[in-house]
Amino acid sequence: MKRNIILMGPPGAGKGTLAKMLMEGLDLVHISTGDMFREAIKEGTPLGTLAASFINKGDLVPDDVTIGIVKERLAKPDCAKGFLLDGFPRTLPQAEALKELSSEIARPIQAVVNLDCDENELIRRISGRRVCKSCGAPFHVETMKPKKEGVCDLCGGELYQRKDDNEEALKVRLTHYNEDTKPLLDYYAHEGLLVNFNSLVGKEKLFDEVLSYLNK
Ligand code: ADP
Ligand code: ZN
Repeated sequence: MKRNIILMGPPGAGKGTLAKMLMEGLDLVHISTGDMFREAIKEGTPLGTLAASFINKGDLVPDDVTIGIVKERLAKPDCAKGFLLDGFPRTLPQAEALKELSSEIARPIQAVVNLDCDENELIRRISGRRVCKSCGAPFHVETMKPKKEGVCDLCGGELYQRKDDNEEALKVRLTHYNEDTKPLLDYYAHEGLLVNFNSLVGKEKLFDEVLSYLNK
């Protein structure tokens, strides 16, 4: 079983959905930088105010801030059982910081799971996405409808559309993905850690494929 996993892919590739499914079966800590920022925004902390000014436009939160919160989280004792990093690293400096950090705590990364998806499908997924205010579970107005409109199947929370899930912010997010994050694929391929999965096969099949890879 592989532990200490990175989940990568463009916005809308299905990282959050897959992470939620994996968490039900695997005893790992889920570390989503996007969720951590959204939590801080909801609570109105200084970190939240800072993060919102970047996130709402589709920009990346600065590396020093992002690396800081991940460092703090990884230092907690529960990470000893293994962790799934979702949405981190997104830049080369973040990847380099993570390498140092994970070796300091003697928990090296064992797999980088990359979700491939074509750009038209990403746009379709993100423009119809709705997210649970309470637990963060993702839905889609056409293809992943909740049982009851506007209500989360998992926890009964209210569904909303993220501020950065609009056409303008999405364009900026895709540009950041292509320019800042995509180079990490070569970086991790070089380290022998990268495994590619096609996210167009559907969430159940994708889940089976990734799980069987991680269990190897
Ligand atoms: P998605 O993968 O759909 O873009 P996330 O929830 O992972 O959504 O991230 C939402 C936003 O949070 C990003 O667009 C970015 O502004 C910020 N963010 C999340 N993770 C990072 C990171 N590792 N570095 C910089 N910014 C981040
Ligand atoms: Zn919920």
